[in-house]
Formats: sequence, structure tokens, C-alpha cells
Amino acid sequence: MRKKVVAGNWKMNLDIEQGKKLVNEILAGMPQLGDEHKVIICPPFIHLQQTAQLTVAANRVYTGAQNCYTEASGAYTGEVSAAMVKSTGALFVILGHSERREYFNETNEMLAKKVNTALENNLQIIFCCGEPLEIRDACTQNQYVEQQIIDGLFHLDAEQLSHVTIAYEPIWAIGTGRTATTEQAQDMHAHIRSVIAGRYGKEVADSTSILYGGSCKPSNAPELFACPDVDGGLIGGASLNAADFHGIINAMVEQ
Ligand code: PEP
Repeated sequence: MRKKVVAGNWKMNLDIEQGKKLVNEILAGMPQLGDEHKVIICPPFIHLQQTAQLTVAANRVYTGAQNCYTEASGAYTGEVSAAMVKSTGALFVILGHSERREYFNETNEMLAKKVNTALENNLQIIFCCGEPLEIRDACTQNQYVEQQIIDGLFHLDAEQLSHVTIAYEPIWAIGTGRTATTEQAQDMHAHIRSVIAGRYGKEVADSTSILYGGSCKPSNAPELFACPDVDGGLIGGASLNAADFHGIINAMVEQ
């Protein structure tokens, strides 16, 4: 059956010492994880090697990057390739976060290329999708998110898709304190699963983990994670505090 996942996206926060302290606090209080659970810590690039070394001995806790570039190497000042990410010991990469799409103009076409280079380098992918408020207000969120998934992922075969976890993150809920209702989350997750089933079949859709992201906290994680198609969370702000992150991980474990 599909995995339950809690992934922490630190965004552009913490220096090396602060990062080390937080990873050690997270590991020290980690609840008992089962075979069906994964915890992924996604710090900025500069932390990856240290975080991968700290998490390597921890059971079912992994390190991921927040991005990688489309190309393998070359004159792309400031960019980091998938191979470079892999060489740090990180096993995951987040692709298509709405902040990358919005502030760095990442298009679905670029993301399809990033997906390919990540898979070529044996990275597992957390692929983000989600609609802005005006799309939600116009009630066209299902079509909008479906197109992101078609453009970013549907060139993959079923084996390649098995290395992808999807994160649904309504943009209006990210960092705003405004969480999607359980009904909104469940409806979209079920829609995403049906879109995957339409292309890859029910078995593949049923084994694809779909995470919710957007102002998820220890207080709302239990009801969100109880939704049948919500398989965990991608956590921003609350992943920067070990106690809050533990609270959310507990909500996954207690499902
Ligand atoms: C995110 O950035 O992926 C996110 C979900 O942020 P937050 O939890 O802070 O809303």
C-alpha cells in the first residue's frame, strides 16, 4: 500500500549551525516510525550534506533538496544540478513548489525537464501542484491542477511515476494560516488520484502518495491526515520548530 509521508520544507531559513541543531532536535524526539512511514527533511542546498549525514543512521528519515536545475552541468551560475544534489547524500527533491513557479518563473515545461533530470539521477521527487486564489474563486481548480500534473508528469511511464510523490498545495493556504478544509483537501486529492488512474490505471493511482500542504500544524494535521486520499503533508513554517514538526509526524503515525 502507499506510504504515509511528512516532509519539511525549510525554505530559505537557518544557517549551518541552526540547521544542525534543528535536525538533531528532530531526530532526538522522532516518534517510532513504521515501514509505511517516511519523514523527509528538505533544507536549503548548503545544509544537504550535513543533513544527509545526520539522518543516514535514522530509520525512515531522509534528506531532500528544494529544487534542482534542468541541465546536467555548465555555465549556469548559481544553479545546482540533480547529480550534485544526489552527491550530497540527499535522496529526494521537491519540484514545482509554488514559490519557484511564482518568483522564479518555473513553467510546467521546465518542470517536466527537471522531473527527467531528477529521475535520471535516481532522486525521488515531491512534485507540487496547487491553484491560486482567483482560480479557486472561479471554481476551476480541478482543471488547473490537472493540467499541472499532465504537463509535469504524464510523459513518465508507470515505473518512473512510482518515484514521484505528489503534494497538493493550494497557494492561498501556503504561509497564510488559512488551511484548506478537510472537504476541500479530500475533494482535490480524490480528483488528483482519479486523474492518475485515468492515465496509469487504478493500481498505480492507489499506490501514489498525495500530500497536503498549506498551513498544516499539529492542531489541524489529525483531521487532514484522516481524509482517505490525504497521505501526509508537506510542511513549511511548522517544520522549523521540532515540537511542531513532531506533532505533525505524530498525527501521521497515529492514523
Ligand atoms: C510549503 O511551503 O510547502 C508550505 C506548505 O508552507 P506552510 O506550511 O508554511 O504553509
